[in-house]
Amino acid sequence: MSRMISKSHCGGRADPLMQYVLQHSLREHPVLKKLRLKTMEDSMNGMMVACEQSQFMANLVKLIHAKKALEIGVYTGYNTLNMALALPDDGVVVACDISEEYTNIGKPFWQEAGVEKKIDLRLQPALQTLDELIEDGQAGTFDFAFIDADKVNYDGYFEKSLQLLRKGGVIAVDNVLWGGKVLNPDDEDTVAIDKLNKKLLRDIRVTLSMLTIGDGLTLATKL
Ligand code: SAM
Ligand code: CA
Repeated sequence: MSRMISKSHCGGRADPLMQYVLQHSLREHPVLKKLRLKTMEDSMNGMMVACEQSQFMANLVKLIHAKKALEIGVYTGYNTLNMALALPDDGVVVACDISEEYTNIGKPFWQEAGVEKKIDLRLQPALQTLDELIEDGQAGTFDFAFIDADKVNYDGYFEKSLQLLRKGGVIAVDNVLWGGKVLNPDDEDTVAIDKLNKKLLRDIRVTLSMLTIGDGLTLATKL
């Protein structure tokens, strides 16, 4: 992997330039840091979002004055916590995951940071939660969505998130470079990511930027 798309979780990063970036820009809330260190004890810690990417999205959430956010794929909730910290007191992040085991790692930290009331955790397949939100009349009311769950459902997550977003709302799609595998898609996860990347290039419903932060992050703003 090249320097630009390499993934890290802040600690132990080998690339000196990336260390410089982190040393000169990372402002990690103390409870976020504790959750990151706790997450590093888990065998699946490679799934955690890169911390500088999470900080970027938290800043983006503030920039667009977001009140309602979707986190599609929570894991231990590092980014969920960052979103909740960035949202105003009356804000909410609807956090979608299927794993009680992973999300239970994060919950005590959400409480310690005092933002658990802003996190609405829904433990069921995310497509079902998004359908329920639409059926509940919440289409057009969300400001931000982070798509980071199972890759084969990425297109479904994008379409339903787009319905749920207000005009000017932002969808952030994670892992759009998939460690460089998108150059030669030969498995169903990579094919699904590449298919969405190709579709979004021509999608006139959104503006588009593909950033090389983390493992690749597409930002699509609803027009
Ligand atoms: N966004 C997280 C973070 O900030 O660290 C990382 C999410 S991790 C890459 C993907 C998560 O998606 C896992 O926790 C997994 O349990 C969850 N997941 C997998 N399939 C799912 C589904 N159908 N619906 C909801 N969540 C799912
Ligand atoms: Ca990810």
